[in-house]
Amino acid sequence: MVSESELLASVPTQLWIGGPVDATGGATFPVENPATGEPLTHVADASPEDAVRALDAAVAAQDAWAATPARERGEILRAVYERIIARTEDFALLMTLEMGKALPESRNEVRYGAEFFRWFSEEAVRIHGRYQTAPTGAGRIIVHKQPVGPCLAITPWNFPLAMGTRKIGPALAAGCTMIVKPASATPLTMLLLAQLCSEAGLPDGVLSVITSSHSGAVTEPLLNDSRLRKLTFTGSTGVGKKLVEKSANKLLRTSMELGGNAPFVVFDDADIDEAVKGAMLAKLRNGGEACTAANRFHVHNSVREEFIEKFAAAMSEVKLGAGADPETTLGPLINEEQLTTVSELVDDAVSKGAQVRLGGKAPGGPGYYYPATLLSDVPEGARILSEEVFGPVAPVIGFDTEEQGLAAANDTEFGLVAYIYTRDLNRALRVAEGLESGMVGVNRGVISDPAAPFGGVKESGFGREGGFEGIEEYLSTKYIALQ
Ligand code: NAP
Repeated sequence: MVSESELLASVPTQLWIGGPVDATGGATFPVENPATGEPLTHVADASPEDAVRALDAAVAAQDAWAATPARERGEILRAVYERIIARTEDFALLMTLEMGKALPESRNEVRYGAEFFRWFSEEAVRIHGRYQTAPTGAGRIIVHKQPVGPCLAITPWNFPLAMGTRKIGPALAAGCTMIVKPASATPLTMLLLAQLCSEAGLPDGVLSVITSSHSGAVTEPLLNDSRLRKLTFTGSTGVGKKLVEKSANKLLRTSMELGGNAPFVVFDDADIDEAVKGAMLAKLRNGGEACTAANRFHVHNSVREEFIEKFAAAMSEVKLGAGADPETTLGPLINEEQLTTVSELVDDAVSKGAQVRLGGKAPGGPGYYYPATLLSDVPEGARILSEEVFGPVAPVIGFDTEEQGLAAANDTEFGLVAYIYTRDLNRALRVAEGLESGMVGVNRGVISDPAAPFGGVKESGFGREGGFEGIEEYLSTKYIALQ
């Protein structure tokens, strides 16, 4: 394994537009290490003109990439998968340095993120249309799938690799070119990926990466350029809404993977030890900084105290520290702002009557640390029940009947994922069907799988990533009427 300084020295820090290029005027911005609050390095700060350069490159590469045989596109994607896996330790350390998560979490993300290249390398050759006799018998219906065209992907900081590969894999498999604008907090992982794609034989211009500290200004000209055909966004609901509005001007196709407020519901017939294992994953995977993180725990009153005691005991084993320290299982939060948000949500709940059963107080800097925290007796009206906490804090509340549990779970404008624990299969299916969410975990605390369609309903967005469905986001349907 290379040292931190060797790794940082080897990662590209310029924009990636057909290879490494400087931003206009050589502008740069710092990338901070959340474990120390110190800058790690500087990366190129793209201007709106640089973004248009990337679109020029994507447009120039589009026709040839779409015409490249699907098998060849798939083989390049497969070669990228192999290269990511071969460099697991480099990607893991890089993500830990720029995002903060503990190394085992980063390694998991490398495997998960790489898998989208393998899955879509296999899907590239399974893009089907159809040929059909019209019901009148008078003609033939041909349905033909074509790549949408040049796409823009805007991604968040919490999964610096996987939130990109979940979009790049299907787009490239479908024959689209793509520009990625990664989060300004975590641009390095995507730059390293672009370099690997190039080494694996991806033609210039098919994938560009524009890093920027002023995301609105840099993406604006692209959203107003009719050569761009699709916007795919993962991030907060607030920014997603703004981008949908901006996309209306050119009626861009959009996919929106937005915020969540996942309920974790434990029924009286659940296996409590299994529920606690699932709760640990659903709450603490990625340090709680996941759109799929369980945000609130609704536990049947007859098993609530047992669940709280066992959950607190499991959470107390968590080791808070710098992500790169091999002992650490919970790294720092991404930045000062996130630390303030998490602290305020806990303080608000406590001021309204919640009991702190574990944690509840930031240890202080340098770095943005917050401990694993468990709150019980959280009153209705506490902000933590309705806002996405994005940190290692678990509020627990009770319920008495299945109807109450389901109603409480659905009492949110979000609808990404929900988790339920029960031994009763009929109840599991009844409740899963009644939950207003795009995904449901039954007796399991992690649902993400590249072979499954990931996405939300309500204000968690629309569109699906992964599964057979994922590639459809990058295909348009043409009907050819044949006499
Ligand atoms: P964010 O603030 O919405 O930022 C996401 C991306 O959008 C970043 O690249 C950001 O750039 C960019 N951005 C911000 N304002 C923009 C604007 N006006 N125009 C164009 N781009 C803009 O979200 P985040 O804090 O990075 O990520 C956390 C959120 O993502 C949470 O709400 C989480 O639930 C959600 N998320 C959802 C999923 C899902 O699949 N549903 C997965 C992961 C995360 P800068 O970095 O430069 O601000």
